[in-house]
Amino acid sequence: MSPADFFANAMRAADADGRLPLSRMASWDVFPFDQASLRVVPLRPPELPEPARIGEDGTACNVCESQRPGIWSDEHWRLSDLGAESGVPLVLMLVPREHYDLPDLPDERAAELGVLQAHIARAIESLPHVARAHVSRWGDGREHLHVFFLARPTGFAQLRGTCLAIWDDLLPPIPAGQRAADAAVVAHALAGSYGGQPAA
Ligand SMILES: [Zn+2]
Repeated sequence: MSPADFFANAMRAADADGRLPLSRMASWDVFPFDQASLRVVPLRPPELPEPARIGEDGTACNVCESQRPGIWSDEHWRLSDLGAESGVPLVLMLVPREHYDLPDLPDERAAELGVLQAHIARAIESLPHVARAHVSRWGDGREHLHVFFLARPTGFAQLRGTCLAIWDDLLPPIPAGQRAADAAVVAHALAGSYGGQPAA
């Protein structure tokens, strides 16, 4: 399906302003908004070529340039707390130390990524107030591979699933000291089970 065909297909379901109807996810009981107060923004036509991502086509990459040590690292990977504010207990980001996008990862790094994701999820879910570690890679903002881990707090079934990323933005920030303590637990657990170094 070409971009034009994709757009034409979407427009057959849209109103005169190009707005699609609310459906499916908006009726989930984990959806964070009241349907009555919502409308969908108009879908814009395709834009080709797409705008470049950060670090694409040889442009400056802020992941490669970053000197932040992260909460844990080894020879090939770095795990960081996003640092700013999070409404969920932890938001961590795993990046390869070399500049690779996901489809470009050498098999050896890809194999490490698989094992690391399991170990990081295990460490996050070992926190008594965390029920689930959500794992996601989008990669539309920057080229350098970055995999997110979002900790879903225990007892909040309403925060289950894909809407957690939106709830993270809606909820007030977790106190920085609590988040740092949780991040340190994860970093030390990861160093113990997988190897590498927690931040000093
Ligand atoms: Zn990079």
